[in-house]
Amino acid sequence: MMTAVKHMKWWGWGNEGVGFHHEDKPGFAPFVLNAVGLDLLKATKAEEPSFADLRVPASNAEASLIEALVAVSGDEYVTTDDMVRVIHTYGKSLRDLVRIRNNWIERAPDVVVYPADEAEVQGIVSAAVAANAVIIPFGGGSNIAGSLEPLPTETRTVISLDLGRLRLVLGIDEEAGLARIQAGSQGPDLEKQLNDKGWTIGHFPDSFTHSTVGGWVATRSSGMQSDKYGDIADIARGLRMVRPAGVVDIRPVPSASTGPSVREMILGSEGRLGVITEVTVQVHRTPEVREINGYLFPSWEAGIAAMHEISESDARPTVTRVSDARESGFSFATGKAKTGFDPQKVLMAYLKARGWDLEGINLSFIGFEGSASHVAYEKKIVARIVKKHGGLGVGKGPGVLYDQKKFDTPYLRDFLLDRGAAADVSETAAPWSRLNEIHDAVYAAANEAYEQIGTPGWIMSHLSHSYHSGACLYFTFAFVHDGADAIAQYDVVKRAIQQAFVDHGGTISHHHGVGREHAPWLAQDISPEGVALMSGLFATADPKKNFNPDKIITY
Ligand SMILES: Cc1cc2nc3c(=O)[nH]c(=O)nc-3n(C[C@H](O)[C@H](O)[C@H](O)COP(=O)(O)OP(=O)(O)OC[C@H]3O[C@@H](n4cnc5c(N)ncnc54)[C@H](O)[C@@H]3O)c2cc1C
Repeated sequence: MMTAVKHMKWWGWGNEGVGFHHEDKPGFAPFVLNAVGLDLLKATKAEEPSFADLRVPASNAEASLIEALVAVSGDEYVTTDDMVRVIHTYGKSLRDLVRIRNNWIERAPDVVVYPADEAEVQGIVSAAVAANAVIIPFGGGSNIAGSLEPLPTETRTVISLDLGRLRLVLGIDEEAGLARIQAGSQGPDLEKQLNDKGWTIGHFPDSFTHSTVGGWVATRSSGMQSDKYGDIADIARGLRMVRPAGVVDIRPVPSASTGPSVREMILGSEGRLGVITEVTVQVHRTPEVREINGYLFPSWEAGIAAMHEISESDARPTVTRVSDARESGFSFATGKAKTGFDPQKVLMAYLKARGWDLEGINLSFIGFEGSASHVAYEKKIVARIVKKHGGLGVGKGPGVLYDQKKFDTPYLRDFLLDRGAAADVSETAAPWSRLNEIHDAVYAAANEAYEQIGTPGWIMSHLSHSYHSGACLYFTFAFVHDGADAIAQYDVVKRAIQQAFVDHGGTISHHHGVGREHAPWLAQDISPEGVALMSGLFATADPKKNFNPDKIITY
């Protein structure tokens, strides 16, 4: 079957043949040994999972429904092939990776269909609902919230509806700065089509290379340049979503006073309300200058205070990011070996001479885009604020490295799993007034959880997106797991972190969505009445639970 739709490895992140390597990063092995007690130099690497060993539940698809799908999309684009069904079973969370590596597939989609256009999506939706089947829209399969998996108890036919053939930028309204993009377009493809005409979307999640604009909308995604360009909730102005009775068409107006926002109901709906086929997004002229500069702060509190002050200033950087000392240590440890002059060594010697605690450095990246004069103006404002908080600018070098490395880091989880360590992330957003409290509470909760599971664990954090009233804090955690109990151990740590978020004024997710992973905390986040409103929406819009049932909430 040749659909020309790009998929990730069935067992892990990213492209076949690409992975994380540490041999060229001399600081990495000592760092991991110190962090979680795993000796990479001695660790045995697990064999790459073999598809032949995987037990894939047989397809349960009703023959008449398959016939109906073939009548809509053609034989070539409807498949019950085991490999394709496995690729469409999970996202890429730690839980997903552990399950797939351990042969834990309770339920896979019965059939995968690749429609060519919106009319075919409508045909599939109508056929599926008429047969009381389940439809799970599939973008890039990169979510980490358990948003894709069929329910293990599902007895009806489960259709994974892959949007991968809908990948065109359909047109740009140059006067308005709006681009119509088909929902299955993956980041690099759509950005190239925009760049070729002198535009950019300005949305760059770390999963950019393998996620789609429809998936971004369906999960309320946020990219690293959101400070300037907004989250996808700001960027996506217009939408088309196929429902059993027709298409919801939200026209791309800049703002509207038309009752509760249907656009907002669709944002973050994770496939529960219908299939998004097209998104009209705000686009911007590719900037004359694009720079990411590095800064160092002597403490986490100083870094946070500086980001806060920048958010209140006249500067509007694209990226404001500051890592705590632990995460900064991680970043330094992933630096490549240098022969000859090593600027990092020189810098460390300089800082030491000036009395900096080298273990306590907080590394920050701030991005600037626009005309040369605008960038110069913003950089001046930022430099003054950084200095005021005891920080130091270290130029473009670290920023260039960060920009190059950011899409490689996702391969790290598979590298660690291959060697017996589990790593994952949790992220939240909270008011500026609560950020330090949340940071400390999450560290305490994670460390308590590590004690409970009886293994040394690691946690590190960075501020990743700033807003007027607060920011997103992003935590990465890792520990050497117990083999068979990896998921149970993971649950203890993940639960502790999520609970610390809600207990200290943060949300359960700033940009990864709810799925099944974060659903247990939703009522604590948006209140039971908030959940009741949402249940009402889903129950009315989808009374027979044909659309991705039991994601976000169970009712
Ligand atoms: C290593 C890594 C890094 C990540 N970094 C970021 C980041 O920086 N920022 C961020 O926001 N997220 C990040 N994520 C999470 C993930 O990439 C996002 O949730 C992304 O938006 C999912 O898009 P997708 O196209 O892969 O959707 P999928 O994973 O295929 O689907 C996600 C959900 O959306 C639904 N859906 C998908 N397409 C449609 C559609 N057309 N119509 C209706 N429903 C649909 C699916 O049914 C599912 O419920 C990261 C994930 C990983 C593994």
